[in-house]
Amino acid sequence: WPGWKRRNVTDDQLRKILLETPSSKKAEDWSRYYASGPHLAGKNYSQAVWTKERWEEFGIKSEIVSYDSYLNYPVDHRLALLHKSKKDESTSWKVAFEASLTEDVLEEDPTTGLDDRIPTFHGYSASGNVTAPVVYVNYGTYQDYEDLIKANVSLDGKIAIARYGGIFRGLKVKRAQELGMVGVILYTDPGDDGDITDEKGVATYPNGPARNPSSVQRGSVQYLSVAPGDPTTPGYPSKPGVPRQPVDKATPSIPSIPISYLDALPILKALNGHGPKAKDLNKWWTRNTGLGYKGVDYYIGPTPDDVVVNLYNEQEYVITPLWNVIGVINGTIPDEVIVVGNHRDAWIAGGAGDPNSGSAVLNEVIRSFGEAVRVGWKPLRTIVFASWDGEEYGLVGSTEWVEEYLPWLRHANVAYLNLDTGASGSEFEASASPLLHQVIYDATAAVKSPNQTVKGQSVLDTWNRKIRTMGSGSDFTAFQDFAGVPSMSVEFSGSSRTPVYHYHSNYDSFHWMQKYGDPGFVYHRTIAQIFGLMTAQLADKPLIAFQATDYAKGLREYVGKVEEKFDQTLVIREMDMATMDEDAIVEFRGSQRKSSRQGDDDSPSHEALSFRKELEKLHKALRKLHESALELDERAAELTDRAKQHIPWWKWPAWLRLALEIRKVNTKYKFLERDFLYHEGLDGRPWFKHVVFAPGLWTGYAGAVFPGLMESIEAEDWTNGKRWVDIIEGCILTAARNAAI
Ligand code: GLU
Ligand code: CA
Ligand code: ZN
Ligand code: ZN
Repeated sequence: WPGWKRRNVTDDQLRKILLETPSSKKAEDWSRYYASGPHLAGKNYSQAVWTKERWEEFGIKSEIVSYDSYLNYPVDHRLALLHKSKKDESTSWKVAFEASLTEDVLEEDPTTGLDDRIPTFHGYSASGNVTAPVVYVNYGTYQDYEDLIKANVSLDGKIAIARYGGIFRGLKVKRAQELGMVGVILYTDPGDDGDITDEKGVATYPNGPARNPSSVQRGSVQYLSVAPGDPTTPGYPSKPGVPRQPVDKATPSIPSIPISYLDALPILKALNGHGPKAKDLNKWWTRNTGLGYKGVDYYIGPTPDDVVVNLYNEQEYVITPLWNVIGVINGTIPDEVIVVGNHRDAWIAGGAGDPNSGSAVLNEVIRSFGEAVRVGWKPLRTIVFASWDGEEYGLVGSTEWVEEYLPWLRHANVAYLNLDTGASGSEFEASASPLLHQVIYDATAAVKSPNQTVKGQSVLDTWNRKIRTMGSGSDFTAFQDFAGVPSMSVEFSGSSRTPVYHYHSNYDSFHWMQKYGDPGFVYHRTIAQIFGLMTAQLADKPLIAFQATDYAKGLREYVGKVEEKFDQTLVIREMDMATMDEDAIVEFRGSQRKSSRQGDDDSPSHEALSFRKELEKLHKALRKLHESALELDERAAELTDRAKQHIPWWKWPAWLRLALEIRKVNTKYKFLERDFLYHEGLDGRPWFKHVVFAPGLWTGYAGAVFPGLMESIEAEDWTNGKRWVDIIEGCILTAARNAAI
């Protein structure tokens, strides 16, 4: 509290500690440790214990919290291309190609050759043994499958081969299954690597920065957009003995398998000459297609009945403990809490990028705060540090923890700061709730960039300053979308011009990180500095460092996106609606879309237009929210100034008054995001409670804004659309009321 004698450490001293303590050398040591052997979810107890021990050495009280989770481990697999010989009909399937399904062992890179290295497989994939013709489905997005249906490509009973990219992998499998396909092969196309590819003559890892051709992207194929966490316990923690739900709504029932582009080549080549060519569909289908130089013509197929693929996948399913490590620095204010987390589990023995660059950074952040505590600092707000397990399978450790502590978190959690892959390149990237934007700008402005093209430039100077909305794919999801806690995730990642990051492959190793990803571990150090400053900014300023006006502005922008979506859906964007009467627009729309559903007065078209007018309600409500937000931020700024002034002890009533005023503003900030939770949740996925943010139904990683509205527009369900306008308007007005001073 301002003026309280706890302040043995001034703001400036704390800042200095947080900027000077993180060390590249230490980050490198932590990285070497974490990335030295397998630490798959539920199989990394020694790393949980080690992490807890380190945090305690740093002076942070810690414990291990465990959940009994439903997970799979690989048993066996096979992928082969079979040809039927024309001569002898009955006995003549010949193996034309047997996929290796393994990544090359590299002498230079020791963890690629460990005896206990982890096979290539998909988390939550179904066991199965299928043999069928194959169809190339591009990225396997919803729209890709729609294109195939339109082009009359037969999908039923076929095996899909899709390239990674664009959307979350589980959704590629989900849609294939819905369309009657019997198996899915996912491969990485080097064309999607940008400029750094052997297609353009760049040497491949370990000799150069391009993709090693044998590299395989493992990863989870749960559906993500339905609900994260243990799929058998949606909404409640996986404690021993709890009831378990069936998993068929959350995970696939057809087998899938990840492969390298080397293993994909013969299958893609077998498609040559069959069915339409990818380029006959549309441009998107030939975007970044890279394997042309290896003889792949990108035909869609299906292959004829005498050219089939055998896909065999065997997984063992268990319910087994996984372990979060939770560390705490108690603050002075008991019910204002900042949570800072990173996952520890990896798909591979390495994981030097994902997630352990984040783990190394988190250790440096904690070590820095430990240093501050050692010299007498105590934060105003409690800081909770988390090393999550089971992220890779579906954000399991973090989601189960949030589900367990939900009442407390909803009451006390001010913000969640996430680190996943902390450093795999040099481009700063951020996604966040708008309430936290300013915190990110301030911290990046205060930290020097390792890239000093211009002398003295900060990370902010080198960054395009774009902050994305929260989608999913990492541990912030339960905080943001289920608990309504403003969250953020930041990282340094690669670009199309930097060394290829071998995501979820054996080559995401310590050796790769040292040689190509972050030589000298300077970006590790930098992100630790940024993270430390952001944590302190949120935990230790008298006023919570939120900007409510940024939230109101963000919402206005998102309503704009909804309107854009509507206009695109109805193909009337070129027309100025304001100058047209409704009938003219209906007529125009009818002529454009040749819709069969139009004509009389209560036709969908009229409904659609009255829906469009409903959106005005949101603008009106947002003007109210903006007014309250402005007042709130102004009051916060004023109180920040007053808190800086020295108040002599004998004027304690003035001090008390100030403290109460600060408390009032902070409580408003703390609960602002919570007002956007809707207890019934989104349509068809009730676990997702936030009316503004959710993973896109068919993107997974990328966020949707106002998902209820967006999905109603996509479905042209105007009644439901209006329902969502009312729900959202209600949330905005409640927030406006609650934020008002
Ligand atoms: N981050 C992991 C991935 O992208 C897990 C995401 C999830 O399953 O929710 O594969
Ligand atoms: Ca659960
Ligand atoms: Zn990760
Ligand atoms: Zn991952």
